[in-house]
Amino acid sequence: MTGTDKTNGRHDHRPPLTIYLAAPRGFCAGVDRAIQIVELALAKYGAPVYVRHEIVHNRYVVESLKAKGAIFVEELDEIPDTDAPIVFSAHGVPKAVPEAARSRRMFVLDATCPLVSKVHVEAERLYGEGYEILLIGHEGHPEVIGTTGQLPPGAVHLIETIADAERFTPRLPDWLAVITQTTLSVDDTKEIVHALKERFPALALPRKDDICYATTNRQDAVKRIAPHCDRMIVVGSPNSSNSLRLVEVAERAGCPRAMLIQRAAEIDWPLFRGIGRLGITAGASAPEILVDEIIDAFKARFTAEVKSVTTAEEEIAFKLPRELREMPAL
Ligand code: SF4
Repeated sequence: MTGTDKTNGRHDHRPPLTIYLAAPRGFCAGVDRAIQIVELALAKYGAPVYVRHEIVHNRYVVESLKAKGAIFVEELDEIPDTDAPIVFSAHGVPKAVPEAARSRRMFVLDATCPLVSKVHVEAERLYGEGYEILLIGHEGHPEVIGTTGQLPPGAVHLIETIADAERFTPRLPDWLAVITQTTLSVDDTKEIVHALKERFPALALPRKDDICYATTNRQDAVKRIAPHCDRMIVVGSPNSSNSLRLVEVAERAGCPRAMLIQRAAEIDWPLFRGIGRLGITAGASAPEILVDEIIDAFKARFTAEVKSVTTAEEEIAFKLPRELREMPAL
């Protein structure tokens, strides 16, 4: 169906498209807090502010903060002796990192998400009670490195798949506890925990799920719209764990093709030829401005109607570090 533009009488050849916009999507409370910490530190102390690792996994966010005077490093030894603040990213850090910062008398502002810190505390408690710790997560992800690094080397065993769960040999099967990365697939994690529970019925589980509210809510919203969509776009970066999971969740929920897109310029238009229904969501580290940019790109090519589909309301906000609390919100 195409239409006639009544204002100038010209025929509008743009095909119709319904865009289902998932809600909640995009920034979570942990990401919002981490970005605010860098911005408020820049406002209070001036540039430079050093940030260990990408503050959140989004190139647009990182480039915007760089333009304001943030300097991103991977390790503390890349930072010269300085009074400037050093911010730890939202993903958390191994214990050795704050220890090294203390020994160099660095001024640290910790932007670790409180929900990641909660898992760190849990890991320590369980280890202290004598449990052998299994961490369900993805090898090499900074959150997994940070959580593993809360305990002595060898204390945490990484479980990535059901196959790992089936082959793991514990020291004492009755003294085994599981913790997880916060941004995993809810369904995959359930299956892995189930496989472990079958083998080790005494397995100690987290008091409350380690997968955070934001990951769970974004996956639920995608499950609601994906079966009705010909294509699904997840706005996010390729190193963003929760964004990658949203792509998987969309395809498993019945969308024939889901993909991660960082910017409108990346859209592979032939993949959207002939579609009538498009789903859009955004990972927890993707700013809304990028969602708007992608919607505008579709509106330029389609007669698009945007329908928001809300599956949960989020009102969570985390406290800022003490040093920044008196700062006016930016
Ligand atoms: Fe925190 Fe969850 Fe956001 Fe990660 S995704 S920063 S754990 S709220």
